[in-house]
Amino acid sequence: MIPRLRPAVTLADVAAAVRGAESVEAFEQAFAVLMGQRFAVAYPYGRTGLLLLLEALGLQNREIICPAYTCVVVPHAIVLSGNTPVFVDSAGDSFNMNLDAAEAAITASTGALIATSIHGYPVNLDRLTELRQRHPHVLIIQDCAHSFAAEHRGHPVQQAGVAAVFGLNVSKLMTSIFGGMVTTDDALLARRLRDVRAARLNGPSLLRGLQRAVYLAAATLALTPTLFTIVDRIRRLGLIDRFTEYYNEAVIDMPDDYLTGMSRAEASVGVRQTAAYHGIIAHRQKIAALYDDVLRNHSEITLPPLVEGATYSHYVPRVRDPARVCAEMAKAGIELGRLIDYCVPDMPAYAAYVRPGSGFANTRRLNREVVNLPMHVDDETARSIASHLVRVCKSPL
Ligand SMILES: *Cc1c(COP(=O)(O)O)cnc(C)c1O
Repeated sequence: MIPRLRPAVTLADVAAAVRGAESVEAFEQAFAVLMGQRFAVAYPYGRTGLLLLLEALGLQNREIICPAYTCVVVPHAIVLSGNTPVFVDSAGDSFNMNLDAAEAAITASTGALIATSIHGYPVNLDRLTELRQRHPHVLIIQDCAHSFAAEHRGHPVQQAGVAAVFGLNVSKLMTSIFGGMVTTDDALLARRLRDVRAARLNGPSLLRGLQRAVYLAAATLALTPTLFTIVDRIRRLGLIDRFTEYYNEAVIDMPDDYLTGMSRAEASVGVRQTAAYHGIIAHRQKIAALYDDVLRNHSEITLPPLVEGATYSHYVPRVRDPARVCAEMAKAGIELGRLIDYCVPDMPAYAAYVRPGSGFANTRRLNREVVNLPMHVDDETARSIASHLVRVCKSPL
């Protein structure tokens, strides 16, 4: 079974985690250089980074505009920081938040706007600049969890705001096992971020680094096609839901260890992945173009746009009946993902935060139709996955 995702992690990365030779500071410095930013500050999770960034910015009891089509951990961090999420629908065929609707949602109480380059599609920085000029009180935070160094017309998205937030778990473009980063060019903010982090996070224990290294080895192994066949069976039996379910629709919460600092094991993997980053992205761009080639011109499949500067954290075609398509693909040994299959403002936990009159039709359509294809595969496998997807989508029910 080919898993829908697999981190670009090598045996040498696992060995580096076990040795833990690199410091968190070394990872921060390497990451800042990669992103072309003056400062990077590391956290145990991306969501912790966002939470402590909102605190460092002094935002309290404010409205924070964010996409409805995003990872649920983003509004979790907003609520836990003592602010209110204001959800905005996607813009039709683009997966990103509709910036006209976002601008219309701005009030005197708006503190920040979280611009997300979802699936690696760069947010429109021209439109964002206009918005910022008209509403200087609204701080722009870039959520780059899917888009490390994606570019809009040659401008890196992470640099277009007061700060950018990154997630570094094994499902992301590059990984430090778990972990998150916040980058900024603002020296004062960087100091505030470090102060808040020092006040709020506990140091990791020695054991934690070792546990992380073991987790990385297990996750990487479990996601090799041979072993994944077994993992998939176990999963179907419902034995590992506890580990694979990462959110609960009814509650707003964080993992138990969300205030424990990044370990050296994670930093050591992060340093190596930072060096590998350009290669990882080049591979994804190549596979995206290849998928596009095979899937083009089939009316049953709506292609995701090929956009210059996108990082393709996920390749996300839309199909009419994803449940059937995923089941048929699984029979052929190919796991597809459903991404993102929830609309955050529709979750019970967020019912109280939905503004009257706001609509999420585009988000819900994406929730219903989007599937994602494996990006870690070689050219030949990618071609055969795409050809099989065409056959499945064309076959009668
Ligand atoms: C993964 C992700 C994050 C951060 O996630 P953590 O698991 O907290 O590191 C933030 N935003 C988006 C859109 C994500 O996909």
